[in-house]
Amino acid sequence: MTSPLILVAEDSAVLRAVLRRQLEDNGFRVAEADDGDQALRMAREIAPTVILLDIEMPRLDGRAVLKALKADSRMADTPVVFLTGRRDTDDLVAALELGAHDYLCKPFESAELLARVSAAARVKALHDELHRRAEEMHLMARLDPLTGLYNRRHLDEHLRATAVGSRRRMQPLAVLVIDVDDFKSVNDTLGHAAGDEVLCEVARRLRRIMRADDVAGRWGGEEFLALLPQTDIDGAGTVAERIRRSVADAPVRLADRDIEVTVSIGYTSGVVDDVHALVNRADAAMYDAKDQGRNRTATR
Ligand code: GH3
Ligand code: MG
Ligand code: MG
Ligand code: MG
Repeated sequence: MTSPLILVAEDSAVLRAVLRRQLEDNGFRVAEADDGDQALRMAREIAPTVILLDIEMPRLDGRAVLKALKADSRMADTPVVFLTGRRDTDDLVAALELGAHDYLCKPFESAELLARVSAAARVKALHDELHRRAEEMHLMARLDPLTGLYNRRHLDEHLRATAVGSRRRMQPLAVLVIDVDDFKSVNDTLGHAAGDEVLCEVARRLRRIMRADDVAGRWGGEEFLALLPQTDIDGAGTVAERIRRSVADAPVRLADRDIEVTVSIGYTSGVVDDVHALVNRADAAMYDAKDQGRNRTATR
């Protein structure tokens, strides 16, 4: 881990030099700003761990800088330690009410500086960890645990978002419904675990064919959905056929045997408001493919 980066925003060059030395001697990295404008600009640019912010500074004073930081969602969690020459309680209370993490009255002992900056850095680290876990949870809630593809919840949300975008840009959205053929017989003859392994392998092959902007997920039991932005019906047909072949052309290797697996795919494309109508059309086309003998693609 790199050492915490402290932004020292202080108009006195003498005090900046003192702060830099004390902080650097104790393993912190230091960046300096000599007025409020620069402090704000640099904070956004370098994303420091902690900001040491002088209250009395030219141009933008510390209070205005703090207000701007708190109003910026990317900066609001960065702890600010005010540097103040005054021990006036009202002033300090006001600063803390603005959202400062802590304050330091000049002149200060090195030990006190380090204790307050270290505490602020710990708070920031905890905050970052919490944020990371929340994002992880957010992603986990959208993934199918078996295949690692997106789950139905994410697909539903993505469908709504994509439809709005696709309509606005007048770009077609393609929808593919991919259903494993005779999957029940895999479960019935080889067991549920083998069935699960087949689903994972189909998902892997599907993922390999998807482009960066495409979204593929598990729509139901042995049914997958792929959403291809900016893809017309010909493009959708090409991708559908590629997916069908990638499953049919090589057997799925299980621990003790290889088995032939095929999929039937329904696809469609359109510039629409109602994405669910698009999904229904692709679903109906998938049943056409089943009726026509399975291991094929069909469109409506
Ligand atoms: P078709 O060719 O008409 O699609 O026939 P099928 O057997 O694939 O279709 P059907 O809908 O009759 O059966 C789907 C089966 O998928 C039934 C269900 O038990 C199984 N299934 C659903 N989810 C899972 C899963 O997570 N793991 C396993 N192993 N099986 C699953
Ligand atoms: Mg000052
Ligand atoms: Mg099936
Ligand atoms: Mg099915």
